[in-house]
Amino acid sequence: MDSDDRAAEIDRIDSAINAVEQEIAAEGLRGSIAPGHSRTNDDDADTTRRVRSTKRRQDVPDLPRQKVEPRTVGRTYTGSDGVEHRPSMWLTLTLDSYGPVHSVHQGRPCSCRRWHTSDDPLLGTPVDPARYDYRRAAWDAVHFPRLLDRYWQNLRRAVGWNVQYAGCVEPQRRLAPHAHFAIRGTIPRATLELVAKATYHQVWWPAADRLRYPIDRPPTWNADAETWVDPDTGRPLPSWDEALDAIDDDPDAEPAHLVRFGAQVKAKGVDSSSADVERTIGYITKYVTKSAADCHQVTSDPQRQHLDRLWHELRVTPCSERCSNWLLYGVQPKKAHGRLRPGHCKGRVHQKTTLGIGGRRVLVSRDWSGKTLADHRADAHAWVKALLGITTEEPEPDTEAKPAVAWEMARHDDPDLPALEHRLLRAISERIHRRGQLNAARQQASGDPPGDVSATAATDSDGEGDTCG
Ligand SMILES: [Zn+2]
Ligand SMILES: [Zn+2]
Repeated sequence: MDSDDRAAEIDRIDSAINAVEQEIAAEGLRGSIAPGHSRTNDDDADTTRRVRSTKRRQDVPDLPRQKVEPRTVGRTYTGSDGVEHRPSMWLTLTLDSYGPVHSVHQGRPCSCRRWHTSDDPLLGTPVDPARYDYRRAAWDAVHFPRLLDRYWQNLRRAVGWNVQYAGCVEPQRRLAPHAHFAIRGTIPRATLELVAKATYHQVWWPAADRLRYPIDRPPTWNADAETWVDPDTGRPLPSWDEALDAIDDDPDAEPAHLVRFGAQVKAKGVDSSSADVERTIGYITKYVTKSAADCHQVTSDPQRQHLDRLWHELRVTPCSERCSNWLLYGVQPKKAHGRLRPGHCKGRVHQKTTLGIGGRRVLVSRDWSGKTLADHRADAHAWVKALLGITTEEPEPDTEAKPAVAWEMARHDDPDLPALEHRLLRAISERIHRRGQLNAARQQASGDPPGDVSATAATDSDGEGDTCG
């Protein structure tokens, strides 16, 4: 190989790496790549020290526990026609109610006693805005991703195999997030529902029931003492560690927040032969391929007001241990410093467009296959089918040039390209490097700690197509 060839090869590898980078960004790689920056690390450190957070609640059903086998697919069945089926499940997980919202029901009126039409601008807005629990709605939205993670952990332990899924998080009309998943393999519906009932996520943060300081009169920074103090008395606010210690020392302490799924868990089997399989798959692919901005539209004044009230709450909801909003609740956030600006944290959940859904919106489990979403972006439909193991693809008669997608999937095996693992490793190392630089720059520029955006930024650096509003 002469030097020209070599240069050309380097170019090829570089563009391959770029492609992988983009795929990683597009997919929203789970967790943080950069060591030491992930919230999970912080949490792990805390759970060993803070015993309380590992105690299981008594008010939720117990789950069966099995050793998780390494298999990732469910059973297959051979039908009477001799064709092998691998049925899949379709699951929708929803959050709790925060108060009745105007809605259309079958056979009964809305709780406001009227019958709404499906285009009523009131739909999805609270019947009684003053009593709608915006605080819980905001906290639930912020912690929804953790609840979903818990769900998959619990489900895998309960069924004993490494369940694989693909799905998406999207806002409901009432602006609360919910999640749709396709699960590869069958799991009894009762199990999916039981696990939803038994799954919860406790947030062991200092209590933040009510704002102690308004945004326009927040605590102030005492540069000499290097601490945040009460604007009137000058007394230092408790540090993050002091606040957590107080929780540990209090035998009656309750978590700052408890998030659980709502009663409405929809689970059903999807078989390639079933009539609604197309509709089901269409539901997922709609959000996989569409820009997320399309998934929710605010068109009427009541809806705008509803959104404003939710956002008002999200602005002051702590998004992480390092969120500057903690100051408004009289606690110094973790690693506090003088450049914090309460009410102006850069965390994505505080932005009006995210509705509190700050992280990844497309969720794909790690091990279901080596193929990426981007591989199948050209035909998300085929991708979901492949994920579900639906093999009864109608033999496309030689009409349109549609089956080209099959070739797209094989790209990684192209002999022109180095092994996928090599490209990925390089891409990841570059990404860690860049992440470090970005964090440093961001910290300098805004005075916000990088941790404020940890879970989000690591998975989705550009935020492209990831908002919803
Ligand atoms: Zn109504
Ligand atoms: Zn924040």
